[in-house]
Amino acid sequence: PQTAAQGAPTGKAAKTAITPTRDENYAEWYQQVIRGADLAENSPVRGCMVIKPWGYSLWENMQRVLDDMFKATGHQNAYFPLFIPLSFLQKEAAHVEGFAKECAVVTHHRLEAGPDGKLRPTGELEEPLIVRPTSETIIGDAFSRWVQSYRDLPLLINQWANVVRWEMRTRMFLRTAEFLWQEGHTAHATKEEAVEETMRMLEVYATFAEEWMAVPVVRGEKTASERFPGAEQTFCIEAMMQDRKALQAGTSHFLGQNFAKASGIEFLDQNGQHQHAWTTSWGVSTRLIGGLLMTHSDDDGLVLPPKLAPVQVVILPIYRSDEDRARVIEYCRKVAGELRAQRYVDRPVSVVVDERDERGGDKVWNWIKKGVPVRIEVGPRDLEKDALFVGRRDRAPKDKQSIARSEFVASIGATLQSIQDGLYERAKAYREQFTKRIDTKEEFYEYFTAPRVPENAPTPIHGGFALTHFSGDADVEERIKSELGVTVRCIPLEKSEPGICPFTGKPSPQRVVWAKAY
Ligand code: AMP
Repeated sequence: PQTAAQGAPTGKAAKTAITPTRDENYAEWYQQVIRGADLAENSPVRGCMVIKPWGYSLWENMQRVLDDMFKATGHQNAYFPLFIPLSFLQKEAAHVEGFAKECAVVTHHRLEAGPDGKLRPTGELEEPLIVRPTSETIIGDAFSRWVQSYRDLPLLINQWANVVRWEMRTRMFLRTAEFLWQEGHTAHATKEEAVEETMRMLEVYATFAEEWMAVPVVRGEKTASERFPGAEQTFCIEAMMQDRKALQAGTSHFLGQNFAKASGIEFLDQNGQHQHAWTTSWGVSTRLIGGLLMTHSDDDGLVLPPKLAPVQVVILPIYRSDEDRARVIEYCRKVAGELRAQRYVDRPVSVVVDERDERGGDKVWNWIKKGVPVRIEVGPRDLEKDALFVGRRDRAPKDKQSIARSEFVASIGATLQSIQDGLYERAKAYREQFTKRIDTKEEFYEYFTAPRVPENAPTPIHGGFALTHFSGDADVEERIKSELGVTVRCIPLEKSEPGICPFTGKPSPQRVVWAKAY
């Protein structure tokens, strides 16, 4: 596994920039990578985080790319209210049941100071409002007005928003009480078109994960127990993190006519008949940042894929005297200008010259922890040679090379792409290494209970993905979940051969992916 420390910060007691390492304590390592990269911090509000500029610019890059992909597939952005009337949520029985346990509810609209001077809510609302956990019902209400005839279909809408789900066990980015996301909502005249849309958007997410985030994913369908409340079918992309747990990184739901019936989305078809529309919804959230982090980062901190990195190249002027300082900085600025004139995936290369008055070594480690793909160090001697001292974040910190300036500038696009491809290949190899076809119950239980690396860590790592036949019995799924904490992550779209379910002895149409999950 790619778990060995890749290098050591010079002159420090610790062997890695991040302590603990992944092997020592994966959960704590995750928090420390976030801290080291200055992505986000916990807030005074339980379960809610403050996303700091480095984290937010990463989100902005994700948003930009996804938004372009949504528009290229015919969607338009719109915005709907944060509050949903209680009665709306109630319209779809499965939906309300699924979300009732995690709703923030607004019951008052005023504050008044009592005799003790303390503020108290007053002015009770006649109908409580739910802070949206998702917007099917409020968007469905709008759709019921927008859709009259088959000519109004398909209706292809996306919203960028925040939502609130009162999660009990939260973790920065992966599961927060308030999170940022996009939610697509579409209505169609036929079932076939709605199913086609559901699969199209799943593929958009998979393409984004693999080509932009460099995160390989399994495309699949959820079993009934993990289905979105109110959906007919839920499809997902699942990724393997470096502790070999699965992360559900995006979902696309085929909602059938459930929400159309609940919200009254009806249209007159070409024969003048009243029909209910067929709807879909699909979403990805700031969880993607957590997934990106846990896929690529190492014991020195964050590792960013060049296509999404807020800064692709950082230039670090190294000098001792004031006289050197001026010359070195001028040279660095010139190199930055040349790099910015180059393009990578249709945009100017993003470059920062770190002119802050800090020790060179501190600056280098600072940018390593932030995950910037390429670092250039320039000192007086490099300047004389017209060469740059280049380090790549996908290699060990001390593995640096002197490269002629013109050669480096001309090949920056190729260098960034080679880092991007390398990260994807490494993640894919890791997933393959820890994916196993398992055909017996005994081996399955052994796989998920015998501790592998590391033996005495607070969070021992077990197994990985098990590809095992399953006859689909919900009680078996439930039992395995309670005994092992392992669930069916998805029924892959890429089908295997049929076989026998080792848990029931019944026939199984294909292997499914079992794993522990976030
Ligand atoms: P859903 O509406 O439940 O299908 O979720 C849509 C997307 O939001 C999925 O990609 C989830 O991974 C993500 N998501 C769900 N709950 C949370 C949460 N508490 N924090 C961050 N992301 C979430």
